[in-house]
Amino acid sequence: MLKIENLNKKFKNFEIKDVSFELKKGYIMGFIGPNGSGKTTTIKLIMNLLKKDSGSIEVFGKDNIKFEREIKDRIGFVYDEGYFYEDLTIKQMKNIVAPFYTQWDEKLFKKYMKDFSLDETQKINKLSKGMKMKFALAIALSHNADLIIMDEPTSGLDPIFRREILDILYSIIQDENKSIFFSTHITTDLERIADYITFIDEGKIVFSKEKDLILESYAVVKGGNEDLTPELEKSLLGFRKTNVGFEALTDDKNMIRDLLGEDVLIEKPSLEDIMFYIARRQ
Ligand code: ADP
Ligand code: MG
Repeated sequence: MLKIENLNKKFKNFEIKDVSFELKKGYIMGFIGPNGSGKTTTIKLIMNLLKKDSGSIEVFGKDNIKFEREIKDRIGFVYDEGYFYEDLTIKQMKNIVAPFYTQWDEKLFKKYMKDFSLDETQKINKLSKGMKMKFALAIALSHNADLIIMDEPTSGLDPIFRREILDILYSIIQDENKSIFFSTHITTDLERIADYITFIDEGKIVFSKEKDLILESYAVVKGGNEDLTPELEKSLLGFRKTNVGFEALTDDKNMIRDLLGEDVLIEKPSLEDIMFYIARRQ
């Protein structure tokens, strides 16, 4: 559905460096990374809203620039900021956007309006952030798109809205011909629904793997300060000292167990633990 190889883009103070990853049919991929790590830039490159310096981006097996029109017809896209004309009503805005899609489904759009409790006669500038997001989602989901790409769709939304949106995404993916790619810095959203996680930090991919494999391959270590030798420090993927000892991230549980035995606690990490320690280390 999406294949990126050695993508590069240089700004004055930032660069996307050799970014590669792939998303297969039928899966949800979360794209995580701290603020300013390059998520929006990567998504803009995929959507050809920014010009790459080098590398290749294929969507549905086709070059994203040569086949831009054809590809975008099959992508449901949600931006991180409003791209609607604020003075229009929902209905007017929809009437501008809908004709661009060969498979626009007015009935489905009406159903989403109802499900989301949106009124088509409402002006866009009167909608709350969550309502705008629901409107953007309704558009993205109403033209039979095969790939849904969203930039931070849940940021700034309250937990109830977020859960609703995640449920909708989950129901879409029940059709195994569709895929979803979305960026977020809210890692708990991904723990709930993502199959794959791609982690970007300072413009570079740290990993792009199955979520379950990632959660299995790392562990949080907790021990006393006396255990934290310089040798151990070096083998950890980042640590922090607390009042009672240290807490750290490792990708080698067995080594830690061999080294420290039962002196330390080894626990399952959350995605947030992984992101926190790795981003901090860099
Ligand atoms: P994220 O979405 O992960 O928060 P972005 O991709 O928006 O990060 O930004 C990554 C970095 O690129 C930031 O430091 C930002 O200032 C910089 N950047 C983004 N767009 C431009 C641009 N058009 N010109 C110069 N720098 C930019
Ligand atoms: Mg962003």
